Amino acid sequence: MSHRSCDVFIAGAGPAGLAAAIALRQRGADVLLVDALRPPIDKPCGEGLMPEVRRALTNLGIQLEPHHGTEFTGITFASGQATVSANFPGGTGIGVRRTTLHRLLLERATELGVRFSWNTPVVLRENQPPTLAGEPIHYQWLIGADGAASRVRAWAGLEAAQLRSRRFGFRAHYRIAPWSSHVEVHWGPLGQTYITPTGPEEICVSAMTRHPGVRLAEILNSIPVLRDKLPNAVPTSSERGCLTLTRRLRRVTRNNIALIGNVALLGDASGSVDAITGEGLALAFRQALLLAQSLEGSNLAHYESNHAATLALPQRMASLLLLLDRHPSLRNRTLRAFADRPALFRELLAVHIGHQTLPHFLLRQGPNLAARLLAPQPPFDPCFVRESGPTNPPCTDRI
Ligand SMILES: Cc1cc2nc3c(=O)[nH]c(=O)nc-3n(C[C@H](O)[C@H](O)[C@H](O)COP(=O)(O)OP(=O)(O)OC[C@H]3O[C@@H](n4cnc5c(N)ncnc54)[C@H](O)[C@@H]3O)c2cc1C
Repeated sequence: MSHRSCDVFIAGAGPAGLAAAIALRQRGADVLLVDALRPPIDKPCGEGLMPEVRRALTNLGIQLEPHHGTEFTGITFASGQATVSANFPGGTGIGVRRTTLHRLLLERATELGVRFSWNTPVVLRENQPPTLAGEPIHYQWLIGADGAASRVRAWAGLEAAQLRSRRFGFRAHYRIAPWSSHVEVHWGPLGQTYITPTGPEEICVSAMTRHPGVRLAEILNSIPVLRDKLPNAVPTSSERGCLTLTRRLRRVTRNNIALIGNVALLGDASGSVDAITGEGLALAFRQALLLAQSLEGSNLAHYESNHAATLALPQRMASLLLLLDRHPSLRNRTLRAFADRPALFRELLAVHIGHQTLPHFLLRQGPNLAARLLAPQPPFDPCFVRESGPTNPPCTDRI
């Protein structure tokens, strides 16, 4: 078998490209995966894998064990005077360093016989077939899993898109014992900060802002509980940052393009959701499984018609969360409504992780939520903290 010939040629060995390579090899395809970088490949990420992501990884043959990171049982939102928590309705999430996740995906792909070429940017020139280290490459399908700034997408003429949001994201790690068994999302005046436990003595801090000049330290300083906790913690990684977009493409596939052939986009290359949703990896894995199923039947149209559905709910959740980002008074009202009636937050979390549908939630709880949002607000109560699950972590900080 020539190194320059394969059934499926995947550009980009991030989580999306590796997951697709595994799913395709599981169905017998000959896969060549190339990346401009060398492993371990790191990237800014909140590093909290939801229960659904764990299940998707199991389908790919990867079992995440407790020693790979630190398990968490739910999500806590904290804003100004309100804090609300809910446990996942089923399963646990796990905080895993991005480099560990990459290694596990890579080990599984290698075990299955995926072929790799590292340190090899795919070179795409107008009116020429794609080349790898100067040589033409032959394939039946070209998959662009080359991230948010995808070259494959531009080259295949698939750039037409609706950009719904554009923000700045950061990530750093600190040596400090996690103080909660939840992923905490702290809302502050400059943006949101996620705290994910990634080890017995380590947390991942990830922050998002719409303000261009603002950096991680300023966002952390603007949130009193983090300003108090983090200055004494030793950083265990260097700070990284990048853009985080909510974007939907008009199309994610094309057939029979001259010199290029059949192309499909995957992961962030195929559209994305703001990092506040924590859904980027779930989407990448869902799309990888869908793509493998579609290519097994040589049916790119199947992928095209089902891809939009993978993005629909996460993009709706992104719109909702970004609305709360832009309107602090609505945010405070919403969190107070959740704190007053924790079942609302618990059900919304169930929607977010796919255990309940949004229409079902709106039908059951919409009028209740609307009434609470429109009700006159009570004066601030310093003990205004509620928890919704029997095993919620104690929230020791009044925010
Ligand atoms: C601050 C922040 C926090 C986030 N937090 C979370 C979270 O908590 N949970 C979650 O699920 N998601 C989160 N995300 C989103 C998540 O990180 C992305 O959705 C995910 O990385 C997408 O994976 P990907 O494989 O599509 O792209 P990438 O991870 O960007 O991988 C693309 C790969 O393609 C390679 N490449 C690019 N161009 C070429 C080329 N020409 N030739 C060869 N190779 C190329 C790159 O080197 C890279 O390895 C967060 C994002 C940000 C910015």
